[in-house]
Amino acid sequence: MEINSLAVIGAGTMGNGIAHVLALAKFNVGLIDVRRDAVERGMGYIRHNMDRQLNRGIITEAQKSEALARISQSTSLESGVRDADFIIEAATENLKVKRDLFHTLSDVTKPSAILASNTSSISITDLAASTSRPDKVIGMHFFNPVPVMKLIEIVKGIATSAETYEAVRNVAYKLDKVPVEVQDYPGFVSNRILMPMINEAVFCVMEGVASAESVDTIMKLGMNHPMGPLALADLIGLDVCLDIMNVLFHGTGDSKYRPCPLLKKMVAAGYLGRKVGRGFYTYDSKPS
Ligand code: NAD
Repeated sequence: MEINSLAVIGAGTMGNGIAHVLALAKFNVGLIDVRRDAVERGMGYIRHNMDRQLNRGIITEAQKSEALARISQSTSLESGVRDADFIIEAATENLKVKRDLFHTLSDVTKPSAILASNTSSISITDLAASTSRPDKVIGMHFFNPVPVMKLIEIVKGIATSAETYEAVRNVAYKLDKVPVEVQDYPGFVSNRILMPMINEAVFCVMEGVASAESVDTIMKLGMNHPMGPLALADLIGLDVCLDIMNVLFHGTGDSKYRPCPLLKKMVAAGYLGRKVGRGFYTYDSKPS
């Protein structure tokens, strides 16, 4: 299946990163968001991040300007996706938002177009059920920052066809990423393993086994992790960690995934991590 033109829905952290790597891989990309300022900010990040790659000798000036010229911007879903062969949805992690989007995409895209979601935790099978072509719906889970991280978790819903999987895997190879196939199950593989580790680290702090600094030092120096689990939780956002633990807990019905009460308490207090300047650590300023 020939894929030339892609549309990315959502120009936030992940959407602008995905548009960035697609354009550098010579795909034509439409970057779509409901908010004009989000599209403009997303384009600003793409230019800034390409400049960094240019300064480090990773790309040339010609590659940068050609890639930027391949990205078109839109705030209209219908006109933005009309001609796309492949849509990657990277909108806000909210079930209703994504179900509505997939329902609309099913009506306004070419019948042959593949509909992929970058969701971290929402069921691909559920999103596929909002469309009239569940065989063409798939998860394409990129990691942050997209231009740097090699992995793409490719998530097959119950009805995803082998042809759709092959097409997505081929796009991943063109992006110089490593695609790994997983089945649709709460948390997929990445978050099913990562989030319980973070949750357990929070239990260690709550039960007074060690301080946050000590837990992180143990995991960095003892397990060779580049970052401790609590510093990582602050970076991801404690609210996001809690949401994903709830997906694991409710999706499996298994008490081993119960979110730690201290994690719930910190989220209730608004201590969400780096983005608000306070989580397990305090930060001088919010990230730009
Ligand atoms: P974000 O909040 O930075 O960006 C989401 C964007 O979606 C916003 O600009 C918002 O205006 C836009 N949006 C909301 N509803 C829309 C709609 N109906 N149509 C078009 N645009 C819409 O979020 P993000 O961190 O980029 O996450 C996006 C997706 O990627 C989520 O599903 C998230 O779970 C997943 N994800 C995030 C990370 C991460 O580290 N941030 C990693 C992997 C996957």
